[in-house]
Amino acid sequence: MHHFAYRDNHMFCEDVPVLEIAESVGTPFYLYSHATLRHHFLTFEKAFERVPHLICFSAKSNSNLAVLRLFASLGSGLDIVSGGELFRGLQAGIPPNRIVYSGVGKREDEIVYALQSGILMFNIESFQELELINRCSARLKKEAPISLRVNPDVDSKTHPYISTGLKENKFGLDMESAAEAYKSATAFSHVKVIGISCHIGSQVTEVAPFVDALHRIKALIATLETLGISISYLDLGGGLGITYDRESPPHPNEYSRAILGAIGDSPFTLILEPGRVIVGNAGILVTRVLYTKRSEAKDFVIVDAAMNDLVRPSLYNAYHAIERVVKDEKETIKADVVGPICESADFLARDRHIPRVEAGDLLAIMSAGAYGFTMSSNYNSRPRVPEVMVKQDQFYVVRARESYEDLIKGESIPPFL
Ligand SMILES: *Cc1c(COP(=O)(O)O)cnc(C)c1O
Repeated sequence: MHHFAYRDNHMFCEDVPVLEIAESVGTPFYLYSHATLRHHFLTFEKAFERVPHLICFSAKSNSNLAVLRLFASLGSGLDIVSGGELFRGLQAGIPPNRIVYSGVGKREDEIVYALQSGILMFNIESFQELELINRCSARLKKEAPISLRVNPDVDSKTHPYISTGLKENKFGLDMESAAEAYKSATAFSHVKVIGISCHIGSQVTEVAPFVDALHRIKALIATLETLGISISYLDLGGGLGITYDRESPPHPNEYSRAILGAIGDSPFTLILEPGRVIVGNAGILVTRVLYTKRSEAKDFVIVDAAMNDLVRPSLYNAYHAIERVVKDEKETIKADVVGPICESADFLARDRHIPRVEAGDLLAIMSAGAYGFTMSSNYNSRPRVPEVMVKQDQFYVVRARESYEDLIKGESIPPFL
């Protein structure tokens, strides 16, 4: 569900014609619907209302300050994976005691920053990390609240690059060593074991892998209880998928029903870290056709957005629907929609049936709200594009287009040159 819809063949975001925004801010740009973001967050939140829970929105999926502020105002916490994301979260007004910190490679300065900020918990992914966090918190005369991230070894059946819960993935501690790790964690003087966490992968489109992971974690919790270790927070991570093409992922209600059914009566606070399912379909990337050309092999539509703006097609061969911002009657062609970057991997769609578009036409790359802007780069010295948020009949530029000056910010030429 989202708030991008046609009125008289013109695409609107809520009550604003997308064409009007394009004329004002130029192309390309990311466009988010406030109503969709809000609706998705509240739907997810409501799905878990009957148990004690905390939704920690996954910052890496979309970390724009305005987006984070909206979720903060709706009571969200944050799942972070870096000091930079912690900074953003705090700037946006997310209470530190609702922030959980995941990631296999936390640096010492990041750990110290998180301890000083008073986050809810560290999801620890290795024994060495546990040791370092204990040392840092001893130095600061604090007690670090921790959970161990376990790797439940379930197949989330998603793209291998975004699967994280299999034995061969780099994430978490395996089930066999988890109980031992918990035992040693309790022996550290400056950490406090409060939780257990997992995250099995992203764009997961069925409930079974989540339920499997949960059963394994419940068994581990039972083992921990026999060791006298009790858990207050059960963090199930994120990963619920969305419809990009023809996938039919479970609705958050179905997802919560399966999870709550498998949990039964439990004394924990459940933590969930959704990213994509909240923001994915709440954003689009708007781009303009620069040229069209026809080779012997196929048609090409060359647009002004590229893999540096939206890398998912190049990186994961991901599918994004492509719609016209203004529709008219056109025959359908089969084309590659490509950007200006000097790489053959620079495409937004391949062998796609689309209407025959012309130079100057505006296209909307759909479902680009998650892992869109956050994965963008300056490759080919392309300034990063603006982000715009619509609320009802108004639009707001929530991140300005970068300038050429921004591109060289911090660079310097040494005196010997
Ligand atoms: C990426 C990530 C998430 C969010 O995943 P989505 O698929 O966007 O819901 C949640 N938790 C952790 C630890 C992650 O790395």
